[in-house]
Amino acid sequence: MRKVVKFGGTSLASAEQFRKAGDIIRKDDSRVYVVPSAPGKRHSGDIKVTDLLYECYELAVRGQNFYEPFLAVKDRYNEIIQGLGLSLSLAEAFDEIENKLLHEPEKDYTASRGEYLNGLVMSAYLGYEFIDAAEVIFFDEHGNFDQAKTDSVLAPRLQETACAVVPGFYGSAPDGRIRTFSRGGSDITGSIVARACRAGVYENWTDVSGLLMADPHIVSNPAVMSNITYKELRELSYMGASVMHEDAIFPVKKAGIPINIRNTNAPEDPGTWIVENTARRSKYTITGIAGRRNFCSIVIAKDLMHSQPDFYRKVAQCFEDNGIPLEHLPSGIDTMTVIVHEAKFIEHEQDVLARIAKFVEPESVEVESGISLIAVVGRGMKSQTGTAAKIFRALAEARINVRMIDQGASELNIIVGVLNEDFERAIRSIYHIFVDKE
Ligand code: ASP
Repeated sequence: MRKVVKFGGTSLASAEQFRKAGDIIRKDDSRVYVVPSAPGKRHSGDIKVTDLLYECYELAVRGQNFYEPFLAVKDRYNEIIQGLGLSLSLAEAFDEIENKLLHEPEKDYTASRGEYLNGLVMSAYLGYEFIDAAEVIFFDEHGNFDQAKTDSVLAPRLQETACAVVPGFYGSAPDGRIRTFSRGGSDITGSIVARACRAGVYENWTDVSGLLMADPHIVSNPAVMSNITYKELRELSYMGASVMHEDAIFPVKKAGIPINIRNTNAPEDPGTWIVENTARRSKYTITGIAGRRNFCSIVIAKDLMHSQPDFYRKVAQCFEDNGIPLEHLPSGIDTMTVIVHEAKFIEHEQDVLARIAKFVEPESVEVESGISLIAVVGRGMKSQTGTAAKIFRALAEARINVRMIDQGASELNIIVGVLNEDFERAIRSIYHIFVDKE
């Protein structure tokens, strides 16, 4: 079995961190393809190399002096190279980047150099072959990732390369120019490489021991999830849980490759497994809780609306015409509630309301803003009685009023709406009843 290992920025921020990554890779012969990010922050006040590079670009493009941030970039790499005792020199590569900044600055090219240079260092350190991502990862002319072309070039290239380093975050466009993914995109590269070599697992090494059951800014010391399915992860990340880059899920999901999130600073910790399907139960009934603030509810009332088969469609059309996606549609007999993002709604609210008045002639329309949605997610909730009761008991005990409830028939999640000011307390009380009391 071959493994693809991706290391995030904090895992490669210094020579000391590089050593930890090196030890992890050497400990397991199957860790054959390595995808590095650019060096991240060494401490809270530090600046990521990628951010320094963006700064160089911004200055260069305005014809200003970029000496200071560029020197900081060079220093970061030289410190790592020295700390690892390597004889590698990046002088030539630095000159090339500087030249490009001076004569034809390009944003994506400049930003991508963080991963490119770190890939060179990693390849010298491990003795693995360096494969420039520009030669194997492709975008189409619209800037979208080109899966078919990438697979057709990357798969055979990996086939003939026993051990390799492929820098994260970038590839090339049909005109040969460098393109990057959006921020955090090295996760996507790792996933693409894993798919191309049909890896047994995609290990994503970061600075936490896996995905947490709730936001640590809200719940202190939340438990780590041991297993989560792709579907659960989608629900949680849609509702604001910050995990890996969203687009990193799709390539491996399609290929049935599990992702293992691991901690470079605690390599013995098993981390979190993200899988398509599992018979493993999670330790708790729920897998995780996530939420987002600032939704709006629009309650439309009309007697006998249910006898009008086109009522929902007409209302939906009023939002669609303004480019506002519908988040939830909890309904009553003669009322229909539409939940949407506040910022998106406010921009077009008068037009939406005017259309509703014209097309469905409601008896009343009430708008309320400042609503938070909280998703309680877990495959363990299926066919389990009492889960919803527990959520509402937790909220009732905390004296939190529930503004909305939505549970899909898949029983994978229960969504509750509360006022923004109750948001954090609601999450804490739900977490507490499922995790601390279970
Ligand atoms: N270095 C890039 C960023 O800071 C990509 C990554 O780390 O995944 O966004």
